[in-house]
Amino acid sequence: MATVLDGKVLGRKTLDALAGPIAAVREKRGSPPALAVILVGSNPASEVYVRNKTRRAEEIGVDLTVHRFPDAVTTGELLVMIGKLNDNALVDGILVQTPLPAHIEVDAVMHAIDPNKDADGFHPWNLGMLAAGGSPIVAPCTPKGCMELIRHAGVRIDGANAVVVGRSTIVGRPMGLMLLNANATVTMCHSHTSHLPELSRGADILVVAIGRPHFIREDWVKEGACVIDVGMNRLSDGSLVGDVDPACASRAGVMTPVPGGVGPMTVAMLLANTVALAAMHAGVEEV
Ligand code: NDP
Repeated sequence: MATVLDGKVLGRKTLDALAGPIAAVREKRGSPPALAVILVGSNPASEVYVRNKTRRAEEIGVDLTVHRFPDAVTTGELLVMIGKLNDNALVDGILVQTPLPAHIEVDAVMHAIDPNKDADGFHPWNLGMLAAGGSPIVAPCTPKGCMELIRHAGVRIDGANAVVVGRSTIVGRPMGLMLLNANATVTMCHSHTSHLPELSRGADILVVAIGRPHFIREDWVKEGACVIDVGMNRLSDGSLVGDVDPACASRAGVMTPVPGGVGPMTVAMLLANTVALAAMHAGVEEV
C-alpha cells in the first residue's frame, strides 16, 4: 500500500520556514511582503481558493489584498489595475485568479504583469526561462509544489521515467519542464495521446493534471511508482476527488491524497514565491 504524501504537513513546514525571511523583509523596509490578488466575478471555486490563500497569508504575516471586479469588467480596466500594481513599490506579487470571463483577453492580462511581480510564475518570461533550462525569477506554484512533494518522498528524479498527463500552461507543461530540468526522461501526455495506459504503466513518476474524476486506473500504475494527483474535481454530491482512482494506492509506492495533497502545496508555494519576490525587492539575501 502506498505511503501517503501529505501536502498539509509539508505545506505547513514550508510556510513555517518563511518566518525568517518575512521578518528580514519587515526589518529591512518596515513593511511585510505584499501580494495583490485580482478577483473577477463570483465564481464559487475561485472564492474558495482566494479565501484559502488569504487565510494562510494572514497566518504567516503576508499582506494579501483582494481587488474585486464585476463580471462585466473590461480587459482595459484590468490592464489599468495591473499597471498601477506594477508601479506600486509596496506590492511584491500580483496574481490574477482564473478563470476569467470569456470576453477578457487572458493573455493580454497575464502578460501585463511585471515578471518581477509574477507571484504565480505564469508570465512568458518566467515560463521561457524554465523552458530554456535556466532559472525563472519564480516558478509556477502547482508544479513547484509537486516537485517538493516528490523530493520530500525521497524519490529519485534523475534518470527516472516521468509521465505527465495534461499539458496546461499552469500545471502540465511547467511540470514536464521541471522534471526534465531535474534530469528525468519525460513523456508528456494529453487528450490526443495514443496508448495512455501503456505509457502510464511505464512511469516511475506519474503526475496527473487533467480534471477527470478517477481517470487513472489501478492497472495503469507501475508497482512502486510515485503518483502525484493534481486533479480537483467537485462531484454532484459535493465531494472533492482527484484524477487518480484511490485504488491505485495498492500499487503505488507513494501517492498524494485528494484533498490534502497538491492543493496545500500550491498555496504554500504561492506565498513562498511572494516572500522570495519581497526579499528580492527589499534587497534581503539568503531567503
Ligand atoms: P486544463 O483543462 O487547462 O488542462 C487539462 C489537460 O488535460 C489538457 O492538456 C488536456 O489535453 C488533458 N486531458 C483532458 N482529458 C484528457 C484525457 N482523456 N486524456 C489525456 N489528457 C487529457 O486543466 P488544468 O491543468 O488547469 O487543471 C487540471 C486539473 O488540476 C483540474 O482538476 C484542476 O482543478 C486541477 N488543479 C489543481 C491545482 C491544485 O492546486 N491542486 C492547481 C491547478 C489545477 P489537451 O491539451 O489535449 O486538451
